[in-house]
Amino acid sequence: DKKETTESDKIPFIGELSTSVIHEIRNPLTTLKGFMSLLETETTNKGKEYVGIMRSEIERIEKMANDYLHCSKPQTHQVQQQNIVALIQSVVFLLEPSAQNKQISIHSNFNDQPIHIKCDEVQIKQAIINIIKNAIEATPNHGEIIVDIKQKDHTVLILINDNGSGMSQEHLNQLGISFFTTKETGTGLGLMVTYNLIKNHGGQIDVSSKKGEGPSFLIQLPY
Ligand code: ADP
Ligand code: MG
Repeated sequence: DKKETTESDKIPFIGELSTSVIHEIRNPLTTLKGFMSLLETETTNKGKEYVGIMRSEIERIEKMANDYLHCSKPQTHQVQQQNIVALIQSVVFLLEPSAQNKQISIHSNFNDQPIHIKCDEVQIKQAIINIIKNAIEATPNHGEIIVDIKQKDHTVLILINDNGSGMSQEHLNQLGISFFTTKETGTGLGLMVTYNLIKNHGGQIDVSSKKGEGPSFLIQLPY
């Protein structure tokens, strides 16, 4: 007998497929950038201007790919016991250089005591990377980002705070909606991906912010 393919059957497949496609997109982009640098040295002023435009457009595609998939290997959904504390420490370590570029310090307000949850390591890393990347972008030079982990009942709470200028209620309402961005070169993809990944893990995200005060992101994951 015939089984109809429903939308929800297709979703995991599309997720895996797009993850691999986006991963594969990055290699030709790197090649393109290399040849554009060569072209730049061979060309006249007007040509240099065009190459500049091409480069910034390629960088936009790269940004989208990075918001969607930060890790270097193509991945499939793989749920395993993970130490969420170590996972978050590794994300902080990864983003430390971009924070240091703006003399921003990332404080981890938690100890090394492991907390194990069942999750897809790559996906949860990506979800948190996207939030901390935004925090780094929103925080002024010499600012501070605070990351904390707590346990409550059967939930692990991950808190990320920055001391940027925060968001209005109107912006808060639009978080996680496709392609919502207030940045000139933003993709509006980061939080949408994050919200979806956390939701797929049975978790939730709450954001509180007042204009003039850095926002506070609270991720709750069950274990
Ligand atoms: P992008 O970073 O490309 O703009 P995101 O989906 O990551 O896309 O974020 C969407 C929008 O949410 C941002 O453009 C910004 O307006 C807002 N936002 C996210 N995080 C913060 C933050 N820490 N402080 C202020 N605004 C934020
Ligand atoms: Mg972002």
